[in-house]
Amino acid sequence: MHKEKQQNIKALFPPRPEEPQESDCCGSGCSPCVFDIYHLQLLEWKKQCSDILCNAGCYSKTSDGETNEPLLSPIKFSPFQLLSVQQHTHNTFLYLFQAVRANSEPDQESAVTEYTYVKRPLGISVGQHLVMRCSSDGNQNTVVTRAYTPISDLRASNVGQFEVLIKLYENGKMSKYIQNMKKNDIVEWRGPCGNFTYMPNSCRHLLMFCAGTGIAPMYPIAKSVTENDLDDTFVHLLFACRCFEDILLRNEMQQLSLYWNFSAEIFLSQVESTAESQTRYGECVKKGRIDKGVVIERLAGKTLQQVSILICGTKSFNKDMINYVKHVGVPDDNIHLF
Ligand SMILES: Cc1cc2nc3c(=O)[nH]c(=O)nc-3n(C[C@H](O)[C@H](O)[C@H](O)COP(=O)(O)OP(=O)(O)OC[C@H]3O[C@@H](n4cnc5c(N)ncnc54)[C@H](O)[C@@H]3O)c2cc1C
Repeated sequence: MHKEKQQNIKALFPPRPEEPQESDCCGSGCSPCVFDIYHLQLLEWKKQCSDILCNAGCYSKTSDGETNEPLLSPIKFSPFQLLSVQQHTHNTFLYLFQAVRANSEPDQESAVTEYTYVKRPLGISVGQHLVMRCSSDGNQNTVVTRAYTPISDLRASNVGQFEVLIKLYENGKMSKYIQNMKKNDIVEWRGPCGNFTYMPNSCRHLLMFCAGTGIAPMYPIAKSVTENDLDDTFVHLLFACRCFEDILLRNEMQQLSLYWNFSAEIFLSQVESTAESQTRYGECVKKGRIDKGVVIERLAGKTLQQVSILICGTKSFNKDMINYVKHVGVPDDNIHLF
């Protein structure tokens, strides 16, 4: 987005609520306390700003004069065509989808349904996810639905496209279906889902804790921060993986690390050592897990009211991270679990 346009949009934001001083609180447990009121005001302000951003950025005019409403529905599945499949690591693949519409008249000779690309905005924000539906044999009783988080940005989303990074599990129901998907196949998706909204400059430090494919919501959020010249938020990503081969979006993280306000640490739990030969230029790779000590260290010296924490991983990973950040004293409102 152009700088001038961003400035114009920012000018439409309502004034940010003023944070009370410690001395404004009488310390006698009033309900609501001045800080409770401030947090409610802050949530409302974030929502208002998010609506303004959404209206300004997501729903741009289409060249073919079609209606400009979002293509997706959170309750109704819509058809998407698989444009490409790209192997990412040994067990993850990138899938690019395009919104399509079935032509009303099937092809006369083959009786096969033809599809036309629909290049309209999807209306999906960074960090939100979509739900895919499939049936391995066309039978309603064997329908499987699973959530996946687009890693692509608004540019793709504005022309009806999105990309997902999917890890395939040997015995996974949806994994089996996805393994057999071919280019040009039609797949059904609904969404967007998830209540995360990112507001530029709404915190000073954005700390992201993720494991495995839990990096999917983090990457587009970090990218949106670094690409916005007006966003002064520091983003620090802590990524838990087993070994070098499991590191996802490695090139993408290296690219983000070129920005002044993004840094990442990769923690490998199942390696003998983090030999330099396998570590790339500019990467910070460590042997071990993201434990309590690491979390305490990364939060030390920061004003916790100005820190936002994002967490996405396995159930046990999420539980541990929440416990650690709460232990340090990060307020509940500043913690988001995907
Ligand atoms: C909000 C949300 C967003 C998600 N985004 C993504 C995404 O962007 N990319 C992505 O790859 N996945 C994502 N997932 C996970 C995804 O929805 C599926 O759970 C996953 O693809 C496995 O589905 P399946 O049917 O193949 O396996 P299932 O049939 O559900 O499970 C089969 C076996 O696979 C293993 N398994 C399945 N899921 C996991 C897991 N998360 N961790 C460890 N082992 C597991 C287990 O051994 C399990 O017994 C997301 C999940 C949620 C809730």
